[in-house]
Amino acid sequence: MSGGLILLFDVDDTLLDFAKSERRSIILTLRRFGLPETEEIVAAYSEINLACWKLLEDNKITRKQLDRLRFDILFERFGITGADSVAAGACYRKELSSSAYVIRGCRAMLARLAATDRLFIVTNGAEATQLKRLKKAGLDGFFEKIFYSETVGYAKPYRQFFDFVEAEIDGWDRSRAVLIGDSLTSDIAGAAGAGITSVWFNRFGADRGSARPDFEARGYAELEEILSKLRRKTG
Ligand SMILES: [Mg+2]
Repeated sequence: MSGGLILLFDVDDTLLDFAKSERRSIILTLRRFGLPETEEIVAAYSEINLACWKLLEDNKITRKQLDRLRFDILFERFGITGADSVAAGACYRKELSSSAYVIRGCRAMLARLAATDRLFIVTNGAEATQLKRLKKAGLDGFFEKIFYSETVGYAKPYRQFFDFVEAEIDGWDRSRAVLIGDSLTSDIAGAAGAGITSVWFNRFGADRGSARPDFEARGYAELEEILSKLRRKTG
C-alpha cells in the first residue's frame, strides 16, 4: 500500500460523541436509583468524571476504582446518603457500554481512509465497553486492531502504551504513523512522547494552552486534508 498511512484513532470525542453518551448514561443511572435528575447533578458528574479520568491517566487510581470513585464524590457533594456507589458505577458503565453516537460524517470518512491507509484504535476505555460501543456504531470493521489501555496495562499518554502498540503492529513505520485524538493530555502528549505525528481533533475550538500538536483539525474535512498532505509527503 504505497503512500498509505498508519492511523491511530482515539474513540471518544474523536469518532463517537462521548458527551451525548455520558449524558444519557448518567440520567438513566440517576433514574434507576431514584435520585434527582437535575441539570446541576448531570453537569457535576461530567466534571467529576473528567477529574477522575485525569487521576487514571496519572496512574493514581485503577480503572476499577474509577468506577465507584466518581459516584462517591458525586454523592458526597450532593449529600446523597445510602446510595450504593459500586452499584451506581456498574449501572452507569452498563448504560455507557450500550450507548454509541457516531459524530456526523465519521463513517463516510473512515470508509474513504480505509481505501488508502491502515486504521487502528488507541483508547483509554475498557475493552468490554469500547468494543461494544464500536460495534453498535458499526465502526469496528474499519480497524485492523484495537488497543485498549485496560488490556495493555498502561494508559495514554504513557510511553509503555505506545511501545506496546508499535510492537503489535506488523510493518510498523513511525514515519507513516499519525495519531488523531481530542485530548491534549492523553493523545497529543502521548504522541509527542512516542515521536508520533499528531493531529489534535478540536471540534469545539478549545484553547490548546501550552500543548504543541503537529496539526489541528476542526472537523473531518480538515483532518482529511491534513492526511492527504502527509500521504504525499511520505510517498
Ligand atoms: Mg477522546
